[in-house]
Amino acid sequence: MLFVIVNRGILTIGRKYSRVLSQSAGFHRKRMIDRVSEEKRSYIMSSVGSKDTGPELVVRKMLHRLGYRYRLHKRGLPGSPDVVFQGRKKVVFIHGCFWHGHGCKYGRLPKSKKEYWEKKIKMNRKRDKRNIQELEDLGWSALVIWQCELKEAEAVKARLVNFLGPTNTTN
Ligand SMILES: [Zn+2]
Repeated sequence: MLFVIVNRGILTIGRKYSRVLSQSAGFHRKRMIDRVSEEKRSYIMSSVGSKDTGPELVVRKMLHRLGYRYRLHKRGLPGSPDVVFQGRKKVVFIHGCFWHGHGCKYGRLPKSKKEYWEKKIKMNRKRDKRNIQELEDLGWSALVIWQCELKEAEAVKARLVNFLGPTNTTN
């Protein structure tokens, strides 16, 4: 009985703690987003949170409709690539323009806290580059699709087919 009570107590504390944690995480996120211009906000938010939303899902649906089969976020590969074609030894990364530092208008840094963002995005770019190099060293090829490129769906499809080759071979 005592154990149950103690156990419940821990559970309650645990719940409270996780609520406090998630509140402060939300607060943090809100403050960070406030530093970014209004224009950029919805664009960035579309790539925040779950890896299974937004641009990545668009590319996955595209690949599926084209007839390709793939795995997701394979652990053990550098950078845990978003989409993995095991048999072809090919991977596709879908990069948010802001976080991965694309040279397009969505990759522009906010005016406030510029140094902070510069440092952060530079680190992300460095990591991306290192991951792709490591993949290549292991005999894999990588294709990067940028979020902004998805506006031209046909062009992205063409790049995917060109990169992956015909669908009627092994995935
Ligand atoms: Zn872009």
